[in-house]
Amino acid sequence: MTATGFVCDERYFWVEQGPAVPLGRFDQPLEAWDSPEGKRRMLNLLDTSGLLAQLTPIPARMASEDELTRFHNADYVARVKELSEGDGGSVGEQAIVTPGSYDILALAAGGCMAAVDGVLGGDVQNAFAFVRPAGHHAERDRGRGFCIFGNTALAVMHACAGHGLGRVAVVDWDVHHGNGTQSAFYDNADVLTISIHQDRRYPQDSGGMEETGAGDGVGANINVPLPAGSGHGAYVETVAEVVMPALRAFQPELIVIASGFDANGFDPLGRMMCHSETYREMTVAIMGLAGDVCEGRLVVCQEGGYSPGYMPYCCLAVVETLSGIRTEVEDVRGAHLAGVAGQELQAHQADVIEAAAALLSA
Ligand SMILES: [Zn+2]
Repeated sequence: MTATGFVCDERYFWVEQGPAVPLGRFDQPLEAWDSPEGKRRMLNLLDTSGLLAQLTPIPARMASEDELTRFHNADYVARVKELSEGDGGSVGEQAIVTPGSYDILALAAGGCMAAVDGVLGGDVQNAFAFVRPAGHHAERDRGRGFCIFGNTALAVMHACAGHGLGRVAVVDWDVHHGNGTQSAFYDNADVLTISIHQDRRYPQDSGGMEETGAGDGVGANINVPLPAGSGHGAYVETVAEVVMPALRAFQPELIVIASGFDANGFDPLGRMMCHSETYREMTVAIMGLAGDVCEGRLVVCQEGGYSPGYMPYCCLAVVETLSGIRTEVEDVRGAHLAGVAGQELQAHQADVIEAAAALLSA
């Protein structure tokens, strides 16, 4: 067993959003973007590579209503439960609660909390919460973008309220803006939230660099809205020039990564060009910093990802890095992606990163 904990549960693969909602009379019905199969392929590569068997299993558990209402309001949690017990229904834009899904949604939030427990309890050095569905778009009183409960935000609240931590940092590298997590801590100086995302991809009304926090929390929210087409060079530069200095200045007691794998070059819901080595390098950097400032305490919560054929390699790279075990898996598609022109940092991307870095010292 390694010092890396791994949370998963078969039931994470049992919840579906149903087919995409038709956007007009001529919009042919389309399968759900967020299907269990892509995530199952990720798990299967961890398994067949031999890595999964070397991780320390951490059982998932359901988040209680008291825990869910640390972020969500009670009416919202009750509505999700009611829809789950009935015929299901919408709780926001692209956010469907399907019949019987409440327990699984609570199990996803609770799975992230279990990962926090494992790391803060000293059972493991770091942990990957392989949960589904994602959570970072969910807000206090509504779901959005396939997210119903804010798993990552709730994990941070659990670290603070449940374990008494004073300072926690979130790094969200999902290709979409972590609007829900941002909203949870917007006026909170004790939680640093950083989101690296494609500029105005989703949601289109949030994620701007000018959103730096409110009240006591001013300066504790950082958005890096990268231009469409950003690749390995832009992401590595963002981590080096924005994420690392911000984390070092903040001195968190725990770092949580909201890890969507949809910034890869094959994802249908983003237009970035990252590959597995991008995720590996970002993880190496953040792990190194965690080793310096918070005894290596790092929790990775799974968020989005919609490319069944490629995202397993990105996930594998992250878990290999966390555990310090390099499997024999070769990422042939990633090697191809790495050779695509424009992977290097481009001038217009550097301008955005420089502007974000300038805000750190403002
Ligand atoms: Zn996403």
